[in-house]
Amino acid sequence: MTTTRLREQLGDRLVLPGDQHYDHARAVWNAMVDRRPRMIVRCAGPDDVVAAVRLARELGLEIGVRCGGHSVLGISVPEDGLMIDLTPMGGVSVDPATRRALVQGGALLGALDVAAQRHGLATTAGNVSHTGVGGLTLGGGMGWLARQYGLTCDNVVSYELVTADGERLRVSRDEHPDLFWGLRGGGGNFGIVTEFEFQLHPVGTRAYVAELTYPLERAAAVLRGWRDLSADAPRQATFAAALGRGLLTVGYVWAGPTEQAADLLPHLRSLGVPVTENVGELSYVELQTREDSPEGHAYRRYWKGHYVRGLPDEAIDAMVEHGDVDMGISLQAYGGAIADVPDDDSAFSQRDAAFEYVAAARWSDAAEDAERMTLARRTAASIEPFASGAYVNALSDEGAAGVRRAYRPAKLDRLTAVKTAYDPENGFHLNHNIAPAAR
Ligand code: FAD
Repeated sequence: MTTTRLREQLGDRLVLPGDQHYDHARAVWNAMVDRRPRMIVRCAGPDDVVAAVRLARELGLEIGVRCGGHSVLGISVPEDGLMIDLTPMGGVSVDPATRRALVQGGALLGALDVAAQRHGLATTAGNVSHTGVGGLTLGGGMGWLARQYGLTCDNVVSYELVTADGERLRVSRDEHPDLFWGLRGGGGNFGIVTEFEFQLHPVGTRAYVAELTYPLERAAAVLRGWRDLSADAPRQATFAAALGRGLLTVGYVWAGPTEQAADLLPHLRSLGVPVTENVGELSYVELQTREDSPEGHAYRRYWKGHYVRGLPDEAIDAMVEHGDVDMGISLQAYGGAIADVPDDDSAFSQRDAAFEYVAAARWSDAAEDAERMTLARRTAASIEPFASGAYVNALSDEGAAGVRRAYRPAKLDRLTAVKTAYDPENGFHLNHNIAPAAR
């Protein structure tokens, strides 16, 4: 198809190199990503997605699918390929009577939170509001409500999807159940979701945070005490810790009605007198946006992550040994409703994780790229002996080995069968790829 005909069909929704908005449209969260798609289709709705998928096939172009643009590898931006940009499809509509939300495939988490909170409702969503609903939900989706209501993917009732053939499908527990299983944790492997239907929950509009900061010398003892406290925490409390640059911050986030939120605080304070404290109530929307600036765009980024089933003292010692690095090492507790879901209910593979560990580097000077990435790898390697797997959305450049860490063998077999049924030519491969069976 000629460029003139494409322009006629898509108008200014087609963005080509040299166009005014080209550089803006190809920029993603990680400033290290500097790829140049041959064309970008800014989709206004499902028909544009169908047209873009068919166009890519016709022209033999690699497909990248962009929602929030937060994958650390920037896998939504294909070099010389066709980028299917879903960001114009950012709408959310909430029905408070049925407690359901219809969320377009390019929406950001903030749009979902704000629309649901108008009715005192929410569903599990990640901790930074400019992250995409698309990538986060398809890989699982961890957030402050997960211990009460499950992962984000556990709250999806149905999907509207465009397949690799450009067909539109509705997917739910009763319609294409194999695909429904795979979409809940299997990432962007099976099609392009143009709409998610979510179950919402009456969580109210308040939240509570307790964070105590300690110097590195006391980090090992404090982390042990924090770990022990987290084991018996109520589901409203999600324990989290952050280490790096010589300081340790431990505490918990409480989501939902806050009457009992402070009950855990005396136990936390008994771990020792902190150098600073950040304790208090905030609105749920404030909670969901408070990391937006530190986690903002335009920095160079790299990360490595692990799941651990427990935090033995040796793992804590290994973490603390790297506590003066210039990066953020974080722990977030799982359990609760995440672990209630039977393992074979969805593709997500790590319901027995006790904590997610991530070592995340952020810098500005390209000359530091190699050094920063090496440091993140070395830091995370210290936890590898204690790891039980990895979160697919926290993978970076591990390739097929990373996919094997995210999905246990039986899941990988089943995911391969779903992939082979719906995308046998691997048209959607710019992701943490499940390869179809060879024909
Ligand atoms: P994109 O780069 O736009 O998409 C990533 C991939 O997802 C695409 O390449 C495509 O394969 C697929 N995809 C996206 N949308 C669709 C769609 N509609 N249909 C089909 N495929 C699609 N994760 C958590 O679980 N909890 C958190 O609290 C959390 N916080 C984060 C905070 C920050 C600042 C960042 C950068 C990441 C965070 N993550 C979190 C990880 C996040 O889940 C992944 O980075 C995820 O890939 C982001 O999705 P996206 O849509 O923004 O990314």
